[in-house]
Amino acid sequence: MLKIQTLSSGSAGNITYIGTDNTGILVDVGLPLSATLKLMSQANIDPHSINGIVITHEHSDHIKGVADYVSHYEVPIYCYHSSTNTLKRCLKLPPHYFHETDNSFTIGDITVNSFPVPHDSNFCLGYTFQNGNSTVGIATDIGQMTETIFTNLATCQVVILESNHDVQKLMANPKYPDWLKRRILGNRGHLSNIDCGRTIAKLYQANVAQVILAHLSEKNNTPTLAYQTVKQYLQSQNITEGKDIFIDVALQSQIGNCYCLE
Ligand SMILES: [Zn+2]
Ligand SMILES: [Zn+2]
Repeated sequence: MLKIQTLSSGSAGNITYIGTDNTGILVDVGLPLSATLKLMSQANIDPHSINGIVITHEHSDHIKGVADYVSHYEVPIYCYHSSTNTLKRCLKLPPHYFHETDNSFTIGDITVNSFPVPHDSNFCLGYTFQNGNSTVGIATDIGQMTETIFTNLATCQVVILESNHDVQKLMANPKYPDWLKRRILGNRGHLSNIDCGRTIAKLYQANVAQVILAHLSEKNNTPTLAYQTVKQYLQSQNITEGKDIFIDVALQSQIGNCYCLE
């Protein structure tokens, strides 16, 4: 049995829980410790049940609470070897917290695979988590969809996928300077709602059953806009949301629905 639940998702802080009866993993701790513990308690997750933390990349909306969490609960950070130096520098933790890995490793009874994601950080990783016949995948902060990301997500039953912004809303946002718009839209920035929709149409062909839209911008998107854009694109490809594939939206600083895969 594999359990997956977003605890917070968006440009202001990301935390996802992946677990079995015996193992608990957090993907990123992008909120302060107190806010993280509050969300975990709402989701009935015992903070002592976490066996490891994996990190997508070093931006603060993904690592803000990591150092406090691991030093409070004595949890190792499992980090891909090429990400270790960046994480050591950013987190300023004693070396024994860093457990260096290859791109495939196990935490308890969960097999973890990481894969590269193009983004404007020193490193950026997506992950799949497998227990028995169940696999879930997570990929956010995606400048552009790649064959590698797609191939990894296509093996999953449940996928957490970035749906960061509405392109028109971003372009019309007077508070965002041109350089920032170019950064977000660039091929090391973030995935738009429409590109997310295009990817989901292909994931449907690969038999993915459930997608959770994630890492929504608070300024250039809304949960309804992300959902509607994806739903309408799927409809244009004769794929019906709620019948052929299910779409959920993860929210900022709110726990999401819990999915259990047998
Ligand atoms: Zn980022
Ligand atoms: Zn981010």
